[in-house]
Amino acid sequence: MTTQDTETIPLLDLKAELGPIRSDLLDRVAAVLDSGWFYLGKETQGLEADWASYCGARHAVGLGSGTEAVWLALLAAGIGPGDEVIVPSHTFIATVAPIHFAGATPVFVDIDPATYLMDVDKVAASVSPRTRAVIPVHLYGQPVEMGPLLELARRHDLCVIEDACQAHGAEYHGRRTGSLGQIGAFSFVFTKNLKAYGDAGAITTGDPAIDHKVRALRDHGRSGKYEHPSFGLNCRIDEVQAAVVRVKLAHLEAWTEARRRNAARLSEGLSGLEWLTLPVEAPGVRHVYHQYVVRTPHRDALADHLRREGVSSGIHYPIPCHMQGACAHLGYGPGSLPETERAAREVLSLPVYPELTEAQLGGIIRAVRGFRAKAEG
Ligand SMILES: *Cc1c(COP(=O)(O)O)cnc(C)c1O
Repeated sequence: MTTQDTETIPLLDLKAELGPIRSDLLDRVAAVLDSGWFYLGKETQGLEADWASYCGARHAVGLGSGTEAVWLALLAAGIGPGDEVIVPSHTFIATVAPIHFAGATPVFVDIDPATYLMDVDKVAASVSPRTRAVIPVHLYGQPVEMGPLLELARRHDLCVIEDACQAHGAEYHGRRTGSLGQIGAFSFVFTKNLKAYGDAGAITTGDPAIDHKVRALRDHGRSGKYEHPSFGLNCRIDEVQAAVVRVKLAHLEAWTEARRRNAARLSEGLSGLEWLTLPVEAPGVRHVYHQYVVRTPHRDALADHLRREGVSSGIHYPIPCHMQGACAHLGYGPGSLPETERAAREVLSLPVYPELTEAQLGGIIRAVRGFRAKAEG
């Protein structure tokens, strides 16, 4: 198989998702256009009710992005200057930037090399008298080990903000992400498991006071049209995106099951390669495979080989947050977080999106198995 004679298998196929739902989506979007009202209307209210109920959380608040969700969660929790927030470094930078913009200090912890998730034992070692919050990131679609983390947070009176931007519908012992900590942050940007056509996000919470604060923060601190008892921003979801996300929410379970089937098929087809480590699913969790991530010391050579064979892949993420220029002032350096740094050199995401065909899955497996680790890498 070469790129000349076959279609490249993409990392994500938005057209394939659109096909079966296109006419439903166009009808609902047309209804919003006809309504003449574009924020904080019927679709936003409907999405908030639907999303809270899907997550098993009391409240949901629609926002403009996942970045805003993490940011407003921190602000609503009262995190500010002088406070420390514990986060993994092996995540997208948008987990960390909101801590900076809240005026607080990120404190990075290393990951468990088997799951790539925040190592909860290392969180315990990072708690200081200034620690006020911890942000577990349910990276790739797998929930962090929340039992011990919540217990630790209770002991130290820490606010737990779940970054669930990659983990819509993931479960930890039967409970969905967004209902486990005090606040859950979600993204509906067009590349996540639940996709708007552009940017959108939400927070979930069981705490009515947090719900109230986030609602004020996202809409100019309003109590009336021109009454502002507190400052706020404009972090609203818009009605068109809310309508899109609601239509798609009805398909999320089927898409998630397809992702899980595809992941199982890949793991079966890729087993037994001594140079390749496959993803593991921790006991008691439902992994929703936002990404299907393998690891190998020959990562860059494997990615080149796959490209030649017509299979797209991605690296999530090649530079850990603590090694980014934006974090230089925090004083971390090479060797600070060894498992994070090793993962950044070795991880590779393969296509796992719901609409992959059996032929495409077979093509991915053949292409990976055709890699000669010793000769090529
Ligand atoms: C996507 C993502 C975000 C940010 O979401 P946006 O909607 O793109 O702002 C935050 N954290 C993680 C882990 C993400 O994957």
